[in-house]
Amino acid sequence: MDKRTEIEKLGEFGLIDRIQSNVKKYNSQTIKGIGDDAAVIESGDEVLLVSTDLLIEGVHFDLSYMPIQHLGYKSVVVNVSDIAAMNGTARQITISVGLSSRISVEAIDAFYEGVNAACKNYKVDLVGGDTSASPSGLTISVTVIGASLPNEVSYRSGSKDKDILCVTGDLGGAYVGLQILEREKQVFLSNPEMQPKLEGYDYIVQRQLKPEARLDIIHELKDLEIVPSAMIDVSDGLASDLMHLASQSSLGARIFEDKLPIDKSTYDVAVELNLDPITCVLNGGEDYELLFTIKQSDFDKLEKHRDIHFIGYMEKGTKEVGIVTKNEQWVPLQAQGWKHFSED
Ligand code: ADP
Ligand code: MG
Repeated sequence: MDKRTEIEKLGEFGLIDRIQSNVKKYNSQTIKGIGDDAAVIESGDEVLLVSTDLLIEGVHFDLSYMPIQHLGYKSVVVNVSDIAAMNGTARQITISVGLSSRISVEAIDAFYEGVNAACKNYKVDLVGGDTSASPSGLTISVTVIGASLPNEVSYRSGSKDKDILCVTGDLGGAYVGLQILEREKQVFLSNPEMQPKLEGYDYIVQRQLKPEARLDIIHELKDLEIVPSAMIDVSDGLASDLMHLASQSSLGARIFEDKLPIDKSTYDVAVELNLDPITCVLNGGEDYELLFTIKQSDFDKLEKHRDIHFIGYMEKGTKEVGIVTKNEQWVPLQAQGWKHFSED
């Protein structure tokens, strides 16, 4: 009998490692291939950054509560965010769509309205794509091309001992927002007469439906002449993304519960839903904030920044990544990664 291994056994990261292990490089211009937020390609005086993302209905989004123009906007944002995570700026995107007969021309118009709004916001040109019929649902694939300077690229692997861990904005909101949208969907399904109750949940719902990529931070860091020693965007969740940063930098990391940024409404709604707010911050995902490290000597320049939080530091001589709780206990973090092949 032929051997058959379930994908679930490897998980996302195991599967990517397996693909990567058989990849050979044939072009000297390919500086960095698989393994970071974007590939890095030599191009004259600068480097090009290339990243791609696949969004599948029923896995990554649910059109019953995701307005399709927001989906268009978010499809661009998640890609621009991966370029930001390399300390670069995005320039062009291509978008491919797989369309079932359920998707009307009006819906496609609305999707591209969102795409165009994001392109305007982030100064990105839509330069191509592909269009295909699909047996069911909506599939979107976006590829983004960006650029940086060779000595300004921030890889996941660049952290050094005692570098300070920084995170932008606040975390957990997108996840808690999703729980509210799911709850209201269930209410609606059981009684279509019921209108969704979203008042008071504006901030977290917006974090889920209309995230922004933190290019503003990239520009500010450049003005301050700070190149993060390592960087990743928080798409899978702080714990998982921090583990990537630490393992690729061959360091351990220590973060502090009382330093984690959480918005008051995220906190309150998490409690309302019987969720642990810190778990939402650590494992929520989809916040599209930036997690990066800086040398201690750069701290003074960022200390007063209104939207950058110092959550911990990197440590050599250990591979452990963990959190120090408010009552000073050390709790190792677990990689969550993506669970689409298993229980999700
Ligand atoms: P992100 O969360 O930043 O989008 P991913 O976790 O999706 O990054 O991907 C991690 C790395 O693995 C990236 O370099 C990505 O290009 C690469 N990768 C993911 N899937 C594949 C695949 N099927 N083939 C080749 N490379 C892949
Ligand atoms: Mg990323």
